[in-house]
Amino acid sequence: MGKKGWHGRAADALRVGPGFDLSAFDPATTPGYHGGRKAAERLMRRRGKDLSELQERLYANGRSGGTRSVLLVLQGMDTAGKGGIVRHVIGMVDPQGVQARSFGVPSEEERAHHYLWRIERALPAGGRIGVFDRSHYEDVLVVRVHDLVPPDVWGARYEEINAWEQRRVDEGVVIVKCALMVSPGVQLDRLDQRLHRPDKYWKYNPSDIDERAHWPHYMDAYQAVFDRTSTDVAPWHVIPANHKWFARLAVTELLTRAMEGMELEWPAADFDVEHERARLAALRRDDAGGAASGAAGAAPG
Ligand code: AMP
Ligand code: MG
Repeated sequence: MGKKGWHGRAADALRVGPGFDLSAFDPATTPGYHGGRKAAERLMRRRGKDLSELQERLYANGRSGGTRSVLLVLQGMDTAGKGGIVRHVIGMVDPQGVQARSFGVPSEEERAHHYLWRIERALPAGGRIGVFDRSHYEDVLVVRVHDLVPPDVWGARYEEINAWEQRRVDEGVVIVKCALMVSPGVQLDRLDQRLHRPDKYWKYNPSDIDERAHWPHYMDAYQAVFDRTSTDVAPWHVIPANHKWFARLAVTELLTRAMEGMELEWPAADFDVEHERARLAALRRDDAGGAASGAAGAAPG
């Protein structure tokens, strides 16, 4: 079986390639990774430290006028574990550098605008990591499944989304798209939990069961998303999410790698370091001198 850990790049094992077939995808697997839960959790903590340093570098760059940012797009059916990614993966970095947004049913104000309006407003500022818990992809997923707009309208959105993402990438946004996939059986177990644990009631929505009835239709809509919006500049990664520990490890690795690829340096000082050091050293001498004379003055004469 070989060494525990990633064998090759996680992105290569998880990225949607040509001919990707969601109906043949197994949400219980751990593509590219060898090992079990314990080893995965250890590895995730280690990579979390790398991620945290990279995030600080990004933030530092933003503070010095850098405009680059990162956008993690999370999609998946109910109970796929999107919230857990935000909590456990993004939770490993300084919250001051994070802009997390979740997208639900559009408000009246949002509905009065183009579907990308609320998305655009939620884009991370320079130096930040933005996280979308659901995203503009709902406008070709739930909207398509429920005929919320006519087919020619949602049908035109794939190309529009590609063009929109291309512009964001040109502006310096690194987009990491992850779709978490659970099997229907695992979703059933997780919904069951939500109904049997008072600490999970808040996550339950009676409509989750109605949505579940549309599962095959949703899978077709996801397949279309992968076929039509997995571009070179913003490819999709499909993450088997029956094992939460794997999904969290995988997103940690994808995000960390993406940020390593930005090759961010610590920003150079915008002041004269030697001069400032000399000033501080002089202060230290004055302090030491002052303390000495202060002590002498206080001594009984
Ligand atoms: P949750 O993520 O569990 O809070 O649920 C949010 C709900 O909002 C999901 O059922 C989504 O399908 C729905 N939703 C998100 N975006 C849209 C949209 N653009 N149009 C209609 N429903 C949406
Ligand atoms: Mg829900």
